[in-house]
Amino acid sequence: MIYDQILVRFGDLTLKGKNQKDFLKALYKLMAVKMEGLNVEVENQHDRIFIHLLNEDVNKVVDRLNLVSGISSYSFVVKCSQDIKDIKETSLKLMKQIVTDKTVTFKVNTKRSNKDYPMDSMEVTKHVSGYVLANHPMLKVDVHNPEVNLNIEIRRDACYLYNTNIRALGGYPVGTAGKGLLMLSGGIDSPVAGFMAMKQGVEIECIHFESTPLTSIESAQKVVDLVKKMAKYAPNNKINLHMIPFKEMHMALLDNVPESYNITIMRRMMYRIATELAKRKKCLAIINGESVGQVASQTLGSMNTINSVTNYPILRPLCTYDKIDIINISKKIDCYDLSIKPFEDCCTVYVPKAPATAPKIDKAEQYEKLFDYETLVKEAVDNVNSISISADSDLDLPMLGLEVREVIAELRAAKLKAKENE
Ligand code: ATP
Ligand code: MG
Repeated sequence: MIYDQILVRFGDLTLKGKNQKDFLKALYKLMAVKMEGLNVEVENQHDRIFIHLLNEDVNKVVDRLNLVSGISSYSFVVKCSQDIKDIKETSLKLMKQIVTDKTVTFKVNTKRSNKDYPMDSMEVTKHVSGYVLANHPMLKVDVHNPEVNLNIEIRRDACYLYNTNIRALGGYPVGTAGKGLLMLSGGIDSPVAGFMAMKQGVEIECIHFESTPLTSIESAQKVVDLVKKMAKYAPNNKINLHMIPFKEMHMALLDNVPESYNITIMRRMMYRIATELAKRKKCLAIINGESVGQVASQTLGSMNTINSVTNYPILRPLCTYDKIDIINISKKIDCYDLSIKPFEDCCTVYVPKAPATAPKIDKAEQYEKLFDYETLVKEAVDNVNSISISADSDLDLPMLGLEVREVIAELRAAKLKAKENE
């Protein structure tokens, strides 16, 4: 390939006002972390980053670029001097490489960020298109709907030529928007919600409510594996996962709360525990994968009753998304195959036959008086099992002491069965 560099753009910095400096610093750092181990040289300029390819496999570089939030687009470029003769010749060389065996329409677009350049954009365009047309028999001009664009960007230091402008992740460098606590289940939605929050600049820690041995150890391992996938987007390629032992709470709910309010109150407990942990971990918001209308606990009526236990901001990046769009993102971030593995988690192990779709706050409060939930909430937070998970770790949960406690499992299962048969 004739291209020797990648030109990386990062949206409109003027929007960032006084935070521009912090934004740039974070972006440069993130880029350096994601390019680690590759044979490239990263050159930071005020409004662009250039990646010099140095014979590195371009696909590998692109895979890494697609992990960097805060980049709006990128182009494969060839660099030449600002001398118009050089621009013309390099343009022709580039077009000869990409148009070889059939007639193609093209258009030249020139942009000058170097306003001292002796020619204006129109003049450069005229010179270059005239020269290329005269020397390449398979090219025809079409200014409205060209098959190929020849873009010329004249900057202070040099001139850059490119044909395509590829959309990147967008958003902001992860970490620049503060830190949030993601409620991570083993399903499809929550990893996607976590990715979307990171893309928007929010660094995340994860909280998972695990009910082993009521649920299988594999369902907890699945959560660890999902965190590994998300960690590829994190600063330093690491994310903290907080495993909350939830089985005591789970059993208390099954024992004390009427079936139709079970999920409502379980989710109120999750929000209470998440709020307490978020405070301890200095997270400024809670993030989850709820989507309006998806299930009974995600009607606006349910969300209102569930949300009323906390005054923390709850970010729901997927709240208006259709499942099919969520699945597409899940596949893009390589979580889908993991998410659909059929291990039950604490929400699937016990699904009431008729969950309330419009639960009332006063009723929920009344049922919560039936057991000492405050102690259970406190114990759950105090007994959290926190792990730092990196994208390339081969972490196994049994090694962390979350081994399946068979005897208790049998007792719990028997109790559940008895309840179901009631
Ligand atoms: P699915 O993709 O099947 O919808 P889900 O994980 O979204 O799975 P829901 O029951 O819809 O399952 O839960 C809504 C949200 O609540 C999840 O997106 C997640 O943020 C949070 N959540 C549910 N269960 C847990 C759990 N065991 N631990 C942590 N968060 C959970
Ligand atoms: Mg869901």
